[in-house]
Amino acid sequence: MIPRLQASAVLSTTSFGTYLADRCQDLTGQDAFALGVRTLLGGGEPGLGQPEIRDRIIRGWGLDHACEVMGLGDVMSLLWAECEAEGGMHFCGQRSVAVELIDPASGAGLPWEEGVAGEAVYTTFAREATPVLRYRSADHVVVTAMSCPCGRTSPRIRCVGRTDDMLIYKAMNVFPSAIRDVVVRRFPDAVEPYLRIWKDRADQVRYDAPIPVDVEASPGLATGRYEEVARAVERELRARLQIRADVTLLDPGTLPRTTYKTPLLHVREQPGVHSARDPVRRQE
Ligand SMILES: [Zn+2]
Repeated sequence: MIPRLQASAVLSTTSFGTYLADRCQDLTGQDAFALGVRTLLGGGEPGLGQPEIRDRIIRGWGLDHACEVMGLGDVMSLLWAECEAEGGMHFCGQRSVAVELIDPASGAGLPWEEGVAGEAVYTTFAREATPVLRYRSADHVVVTAMSCPCGRTSPRIRCVGRTDDMLIYKAMNVFPSAIRDVVVRRFPDAVEPYLRIWKDRADQVRYDAPIPVDVEASPGLATGRYEEVARAVERELRARLQIRADVTLLDPGTLPRTTYKTPLLHVREQPGVHSARDPVRRQE
């Protein structure tokens, strides 16, 4: 459909961007760069802010520009978007929405200053029927800049994860996306940007034993080096995030690719226990 419509820009999840970059040749017989798309707006999950993932999408699609965007259905579908300078998403909803930053534990307001991390809270001015007042988004963001070469004066942010994704390893909070960031940034030649973090139960948040993490090897990595790379990833996670992980390297192409949002957390299937994707279980 993209060539037929002569689309030059695509709005998609970040996972769809990497999916088509990797799979377009297999699926359609042509590479993604033959589609003629110049710009991709990607969001719905953390990832496009990661330079290695952004580069993979830009190279795979032959893009001029890939730009991260973020919003939420309860407030406004797109509230934040990167300009040409990249380096974080500008707040773009001033006309309709007020945004505050709070400490997610205490609820206290936080200043809009570079480096400050907190939860985004929204109040709508113009939304009818379902207005929200100081609505907690559960999105954890970091302020990356308060000014920009483009001239816009709104803060720039990155989203690091959602409250419901946060894991606790012996009193250390860690987001799955932070684990992926370390793996992808430090081992770009050895591994692919796909990983899977295991939970024993859908409601597991705390880990006292090392967090089980599956990482996918690059096609060029010899199987004889899997062990060595796995141990190196564990050391790097310990040094950067103060967490212990139990890393297993898997063959290239083993982890599932999805066209929508790709979950990093997976629940081990147990006999007689509903999986995390079971909607009945989810409501409990
Ligand atoms: Zn800008």
